[in-house]
Amino acid sequence: MSKNFKVSLGIDEDALASCVSCGLCLPHCPTYRVTQEETASPRGRIALMRQVEAAGVADDTFISFMDACIQCRGCETACPSGVPFGPMMETTREALADQTSYQPRYRRLGYSVLGMPRLLALGSRLIAVLQRLRLIPSRLALPRIPLRQTKLKASGDDVWLFTGCIMDAWMRDTHAAVKRVVESTGAGVRLPGNEAGCCGALHVHAGLTLKAKKLANKVIEAFPGTNPILVDSAGCGAQLKDYGHLLGTTKAAAFSSRVFDVHEWLAENLDKLPKINSDEPPVIVQDPCHLRHVQRSHEAVRLVMNQYIGTIELDDDGLCCGAGGAYSSLHPETAAEVRTRKLESINRSGGTNVVSANPGCMLHLQQAGVSIQHPLELVDSIIARAMKRE
Ligand code: SF4
Ligand code: SF4
Repeated sequence: MSKNFKVSLGIDEDALASCVSCGLCLPHCPTYRVTQEETASPRGRIALMRQVEAAGVADDTFISFMDACIQCRGCETACPSGVPFGPMMETTREALADQTSYQPRYRRLGYSVLGMPRLLALGSRLIAVLQRLRLIPSRLALPRIPLRQTKLKASGDDVWLFTGCIMDAWMRDTHAAVKRVVESTGAGVRLPGNEAGCCGALHVHAGLTLKAKKLANKVIEAFPGTNPILVDSAGCGAQLKDYGHLLGTTKAAAFSSRVFDVHEWLAENLDKLPKINSDEPPVIVQDPCHLRHVQRSHEAVRLVMNQYIGTIELDDDGLCCGAGGAYSSLHPETAAEVRTRKLESINRSGGTNVVSANPGCMLHLQQAGVSIQHPLELVDSIIARAMKRE
């Protein structure tokens, strides 16, 4: 039997009333596409939020419907009424995490590790060793974690590069490639070191807002000055740009105004990038949801890529790939079904190699056998090959 909880979601009344139930968002919702269930659609979820807000009572079924949302925000860009679905879902999850048993202790502990860079590095090294000893089951589908980390060295202080938590522990080579591309414009890159750590995006997704605020304050202190802060992970970039809203302070708003997805910054500096004639075959661009639907700056990726290589568009209107931060670990079956639709679109595109500007999407699609890189890893290798030829 489903258990009832007293709950007050605290969603803005105007936001709740703004959905006119037109259903135009439904084809853009990955969980609706997979299930065809109204309760797994944006419209259905909003209707449930209204019911719970009016009754002041929720149950396990409501929690499971809210938890099944990938928070991709594809519904927001599709909605003609401007319904702020992302903030509504974040408010709902915060209320559930604060007032019910939605986030059990073991999950809170897992999220806490993200904010502890030394422990994360140690755990990652342990996993890397166990992987070499073939003691990590392949069903966990973890990427191959490097035994030794590439050392990143600051080269100046024109711009900052945000390095984050998991991406820095598992994919530092991507940061190194991004840094080289930024440096190829003549800019010196400054690094935050361990003080910055996790951006708190996964905590906000999980409703752990207080923890996210603590992490946000730490990040802000780690980037003094006024220089631009470049981010090579779409999910982290979206979160850093939202600190002004999350913390509600002028200091946080000033910090957010300095944040750019690295492609946005490069698109403003195209004339400074090395000029190279490349004959590489075109590459498929997969837009991470947090770049396309949240930051809305996905076109910058194409502007940068097209300096060096042709791009192939997918025909799915930026439908989510199913990665969704921690979603693919918490809901592996739905995440895999959503990914199947992305794979079908990739297969229809006629291309082979894919680029995606978010580590979560890269890992999730890689696990399904897709040949995928960060866009700037590809640009970096094109520049390096051309330099060698000269
Ligand atoms: S969220 Fe927007 S698009 Fe979806 S049903 Fe409501 S008003 Fe229509
Ligand atoms: S955020 Fe994504 S998964 Fe959630 S309701 Fe909107 S489109 Fe569907």
